[in-house]
Amino acid sequence: MSKFSIKLGDTMIKSKQIKNPQLVLVVDDQEINRDVLGMILDDYYEVIYAEDGLEALEKIREYQDRLSVILLDLMMPKMDGFTVLETVRSDEVLNHIPIIVLTAEKNAELRALQMGAADFITKPFDMHEVILARVGRIIELSEGRKLISAAEHDRLTMLYNKNFFFEYANRIYQYHSEWKMDAIVMNIEQFHIINALNGREFGDNILRIIGNEIRAFLGETNGIACRFEADRFDIYCRQWNDYQGLLDRFQAKIDEFSGNANVRLRMGVKPCQENVEPVVLFDCARAACSMVRGNSMTHLMIYDENMRMKEILGQRLQNDLQTAVNEHQFHVFYQPKYSIQGEEPRLISAEALIRWKHPELGMISPGDFIPLFEGNGQIRIVDNFVWAEAAKQIALWRDKFGITLPVSVNLSRVDVFDPTLEERLVHLITDNNLDFKNMKLEVTESAYTENGDRLIALIKHLREIGFEIEMDDFGSGYSSLNMLSSMPIDILKMDMKFVRNIEHSETDFRLVELVLDIARYLKVPVVAEGVENENQLELLRNVGCDIVQGFYFSPPVPAENFERFIVSEMELRKKEA
Ligand code: C2E
Ligand code: MG
Ligand code: MG
Repeated sequence: MSKFSIKLGDTMIKSKQIKNPQLVLVVDDQEINRDVLGMILDDYYEVIYAEDGLEALEKIREYQDRLSVILLDLMMPKMDGFTVLETVRSDEVLNHIPIIVLTAEKNAELRALQMGAADFITKPFDMHEVILARVGRIIELSEGRKLISAAEHDRLTMLYNKNFFFEYANRIYQYHSEWKMDAIVMNIEQFHIINALNGREFGDNILRIIGNEIRAFLGETNGIACRFEADRFDIYCRQWNDYQGLLDRFQAKIDEFSGNANVRLRMGVKPCQENVEPVVLFDCARAACSMVRGNSMTHLMIYDENMRMKEILGQRLQNDLQTAVNEHQFHVFYQPKYSIQGEEPRLISAEALIRWKHPELGMISPGDFIPLFEGNGQIRIVDNFVWAEAAKQIALWRDKFGITLPVSVNLSRVDVFDPTLEERLVHLITDNNLDFKNMKLEVTESAYTENGDRLIALIKHLREIGFEIEMDDFGSGYSSLNMLSSMPIDILKMDMKFVRNIEHSETDFRLVELVLDIARYLKVPVVAEGVENENQLELLRNVGCDIVQGFYFSPPVPAENFERFIVSEMELRKKEA
C-alpha cells in the first residue's frame, strides 16, 4: 500500500512532504521500540522521543502547543507511564493531548484506558498499517471532534459519557473478541420523583455514590462504564457471576446515604454472547432493566429467550396499535356488578374492559398490552376509545331500556399526567347527555401510592365536578392506613387475590374482614372482584361485603350479550312495582 493512500475515516494521513506535519512524541525506555515506531511514523509525522517518564513530561511541556499525540510506554524507569498519564490528564493545560499507551499486558492496558488513555497499541508491535491507522484516528478524533479530552467524562460521576463509552466498547469488541463481556444497565426507580421530593442536590449525591461504587467495581473486574443519561448507567465488563450480590452491594451504599428516602436501584443484564456488538447487548440489557416492575420484589432481571420473545411481541403490538384502532380490532366488553346484601343479587353497574381481537395473534389480554402502552404513552389512544364507547353505551341502554346503568372505566396511572384529562372526560359526559355519576372512574391503588399528591389533587378535583372514584385492586399496593384516610375515594375494589383463597385460608378470610373494616371506617362500600363460586359469594355476604363482580355472575361480555342482565333487572323491578 502506498504511504499516501492510507485512508483513515474521511481524512488521509499527511505525509512528510506536506508542510507542517503533526508532531508525535514517542516515549519508551527501550531503544528498539523507539526505533520501530520511528520507522513506522517517520514518513507521515514529525516524531520526537523521550526515554523515561521525567523526560517525557519535560518534552510534553515544551511542545504542549504543537503535540498531536503521545505514544506512551507504561513500564519505564524513573517515572512510569501511569504517572505521566495521570499528570497529563489532571493538568488543565495538557489534558487535551491524546495519549496512546504501549503495552504488552492486558490488565495494564485497561487500567490505562480507565485513567484516560485514548487508545492502546500492543507490544510486540502490530502491522504498520494498524498502528498508523490508530494514531491517525486518534489525532483525527481529538482535533476534529475534541472527543478525547476531559469532556469524555461525566462531571458528576466521573464515568465516561455515552459517546466515548460506546466508541470504546466497540474497540474492545473489535480488538478483543475473545474477552467475554457482559452488558449491565442500571437505573433508579422513579428518579424524577426522588428529585422532586428531596431536591436536586440529594439526587446528584445519589448519582455520585453510584458512580463511585461503579468505579470501585471496574477496578476489580476490568470494565468500562458511563452515565448514559440522567439516572441510567451502562457497564461493559468481563463476565461476572453474582449480579444479585453486585446489585445488593450498590443498593447498600445508596441506603447508607439515603436512609428512609426509599431509593431503589434496578438492574438489567445481558450476559456475554459471541459476535454480538455492544449496542445490541445494551439494548437487551436495557429491555431487561425496564422489565423490573415497580411493585415486584426482585430488582434484577437477566435477559433471556422469554424476554426476547416478549420484546418482539411488544414491538409488534406497538406497531399494530394504530391499525387496530382504524380497523376496529378493539372491542369493549362489559362485566356486571351485583349488589348482594338484599334478598337476591341485583345488577347495579358494570365495568368496561377492553379486548383486542388481533387478526393474526387472536385475542390478546389487556394484561399483555396495557403495561406496554402505559410505557410509551399510547395508552391514551386505548383509553380514549374505551371511555368514548362506554359513554355511548350508557346513553344507548338508557334510551333503549329506560334504565341508566352506571359503567366504570379504568384510568391508567399514566392518564393522570395528561393535562387534557378532565376536558376529555367532561366532553364525553355532556356529549352523551349523561350525569357525572353514570361513568365511574377506576384508579388502581398503586397509582395512588406512586403519584401521591398529584393524583390526590386531580381526583379531588374530578370528584368536585361530580365523578365517583373507585380504588381498584385495593390490597395489592402499599397504602398505609394513614394515607388512605386522606385519599379521596367513593368505592374500594378489593384485589382479587383475597377472594381467591377466602374459602381455604383463615388468614385471607381475616384480611377480607380487615378490608371491610377499613371501608367502614372510610364510610365507603366494597366491591369484591374475582368471585367465581357460590361458596365465595356466601362468605362475602356474611362478612358484609356490598358488591360482587366475577365469573360466578358472568365474565366480561360484548354489549349485546350484556343486555340480558339488564332485561332480568327490569323484570325484577317490574315485580316489585
Ligand atoms: P381490573 O380493572 O382489576 O379488571 C378486572 C379483571 O379481572 C379483568 O381482567 C376481568 O376480566 C378479570 N376478572 C373478572 N372476574 C374474574 C373472575 O371471577 N376470575 C378471574 N380470574 N378474573 C376475573 P382483564 O379484562 O384481563 O383486565 C385486566 C386489567 O387490565 C384490568 O384489571 C385493568 O387494570 C386493565 N384494563 C382492562 N381494560 C382497560 C382499559 O380500558 N383501560 C385501562 N387503562 N386498563 C384496562
Ligand atoms: Mg378495573
Ligand atoms: Mg381490579
